Amino acid sequence: MNNAELKIKLEEELDVVSQELADLGVEDIDHTATEPDELADRMEAAEESAGETAVLSARRKEITAALARMADGTYGICEECGEKIEEDRLEANPAARTCRAHME
Ligand SMILES: [Zn+2]
Repeated sequence: MNNAELKIKLEEELDVVSQELADLGVEDIDHTATEPDELADRMEAAEESAGETAVLSARRKEITAALARMADGTYGICEECGEKIEEDRLEANPAARTCRAHME
């Protein structure tokens, strides 16, 4: 898989993640709930979606950072050791910032 193909994968994932974030965004807490139980349920649901939003936002950041590295020519280079990131690792996660030896 070459960089052009990886870029397509990144852009496709960016679309999916952005769409999911947009979908979560419409689920604002409804403060019109008057029953304490009902309000608690809604708060719980809001907390869950907040967690999901955080995960998706982090992923979106990784993807846009990878696309930025593609633009400036540093894509596919491990941030820790400066070596090339394994191709199969990039295929599994095109947004990877480190080689296998320096995975978090
Ligand atoms: Zn490394």
